[in-house]
Amino acid sequence: MMSTSAKHDYDFVVIGSGFGGSVAALRLAEKGYSVLVLEKGKWFTADDFPRSNWNLRRWMWLPAFRFFGFFKITFFRHITTLSGVGVGGGSLVYANTLPVPKADFFESVSWGHLADWQKELKPFYEKAQEMMGTAVNPVLKTGDLALKKLAENIGKSKDFRPTNVAVFFGKPQETVPDPYFGGEGPERAGCNFCAGCMIGCRYNAKNTLDKNYLYLAQKKGAQIQAESEVYDVCPLNETDGSDGYRIKWKSATRFFKKRGEWTARNVVFAGGALGTVKLLLNLKEKSLPGLSKKVGADIRTNSECLIGVTTFDKETVFSEGVAIGSIVHTDAHSHLEPVRYPAGSGFWRFLGSPLVSGKNVLTRLFNILKDYLLHPVDNLKAYFVSDWAKKTQVLLFMQTLNNTLRFSRGLFGLKSSLSSGPAPTAYIPEAGELANQYAEIVDGKATALISETLLGIPTTAHILGGAVMGRNSTEGAIDKDNRAFGYKNMYICDGSTLSANPGVNPSLTILALAERAMNKIPAKIKSAAPGGNYQMPSKIEK
Ligand SMILES: Cc1cc2nc3c(=O)[nH]c(=O)nc-3n(C[C@H](O)[C@H](O)[C@H](O)COP(=O)(O)OP(=O)(O)OC[C@H]3O[C@@H](n4cnc5c(N)ncnc54)[C@H](O)[C@@H]3O)c2cc1C
Repeated sequence: MMSTSAKHDYDFVVIGSGFGGSVAALRLAEKGYSVLVLEKGKWFTADDFPRSNWNLRRWMWLPAFRFFGFFKITFFRHITTLSGVGVGGGSLVYANTLPVPKADFFESVSWGHLADWQKELKPFYEKAQEMMGTAVNPVLKTGDLALKKLAENIGKSKDFRPTNVAVFFGKPQETVPDPYFGGEGPERAGCNFCAGCMIGCRYNAKNTLDKNYLYLAQKKGAQIQAESEVYDVCPLNETDGSDGYRIKWKSATRFFKKRGEWTARNVVFAGGALGTVKLLLNLKEKSLPGLSKKVGADIRTNSECLIGVTTFDKETVFSEGVAIGSIVHTDAHSHLEPVRYPAGSGFWRFLGSPLVSGKNVLTRLFNILKDYLLHPVDNLKAYFVSDWAKKTQVLLFMQTLNNTLRFSRGLFGLKSSLSSGPAPTAYIPEAGELANQYAEIVDGKATALISETLLGIPTTAHILGGAVMGRNSTEGAIDKDNRAFGYKNMYICDGSTLSANPGVNPSLTILALAERAMNKIPAKIKSAAPGGNYQMPSKIEK
């Protein structure tokens, strides 16, 4: 099934270069396959990243305005999503935190019957952590220490800990030869704790995917074609894809769209939950009608809630450290993390409003106005604070709730609808209570995004599912080894395949699942792919 035919341009085309796509690129190239990665976003170097998120053109992906940055916001009826675009996908914009979920995730009814996930994924979690160079955050800064105090106050001291982060902690800003891959990886420089992880690391300290998986994949001969959005994947000759696929792409950045196509024996969809689900739903209408009806179903988030706490204390500065430096497990199903931006990055200020709740828009509007009237000085101080990022600690609250949405094709791309369980909510009472306690500790005021407080629409940086696993195509879009139902030689490897809510930041789990799926693919029989002489150190070859 895996043999290459001379009539194909590549053995594998991988669509998207985020966490799942990067694993696929490296592991397939190592197995001797010729690999092409097609990525919608741009290649970025340290100099391309903005100094603050006020530089919208460099920060945001908004092609309609000719903004080709790496951070994308997408609005749906039930959810607002934050995601990454570019070579390295979400790793460019993410907060480096790579936790392993708790046991109940692996046993969740939605996928626990498919495999002993905890046991099977363990070696792949370890492999992914090594590849990403995860290390315990060595320095707790102001926002972490306040979280530690909060943990003490609520009797959860034992459940507070520094995060595991994919950052190189050498000497600040000192460049050293590759510390991770026996000299085959790129130079790295020590983190200077500038808190800039989420607006792009300008100091070569963040272990983004272009510094590990993709870098090594290229050395093994994999090619990466950036600024190329895939819009069609059609089977060649045989309608079930057994003869391979024609993959059509168009430029994502040029005014007059350049187009092209490649043929490949196999295709890996790795465009992230948003990119993959949108593409698959479109393809199901024309080129790939045999895809499962489950495509678009079982969309999950971490049931997150993002709350800002702006301090009024003159001495307090939050904008130092790695983006997420600590975590506390506030109960068996909930986690709280402080998230920070670097000094000067105050974009979110404009979207802030008092943290209130209410059953409908009118009551919430009433409560916002009431808060402004009751606390005019605090609200003005929070809004007009001199440097929002220095003075504001964002709190990320996550839970393992298992409610789901569905994505389907709408007039302007994807649209969401309710599927199972209650609608995702922007106001989680426990989160509000914890934020208010945190605000007391730091002498501050809790605020939230206006889209959350007024419209009641929660924001998530962890959009997952839409191509979930199942025993058959009635239960899922893919099998437990990431093979798409309905077609041959077709895999899905990204956040869309997460089939339960991990309750914590999901990228490590996406990596582990992709590692497991790629591990199942046999090596190519013939010669190795051209280029690259890199050998994985034996400690990673577990
Ligand atoms: C601000 C922020 C902070 C975060 N912090 C953390 C954190 O600390 N820890 C954590 O675990 N997670 C974090 N996340 C979430 C994390 O970034 C995502 O879960 C992760 O990136 C998803 O990986 P993926 O493989 O599914 O796809 P992605 O990483 O999203 O990559 C998909 C790629 O495919 C490309 N693509 C999409 N469609 C197409 C197409 N048709 N053709 C070609 N290319 C396409 C996209 O441009 C993108 O580059 C954060 C996210 C954000 C936005």
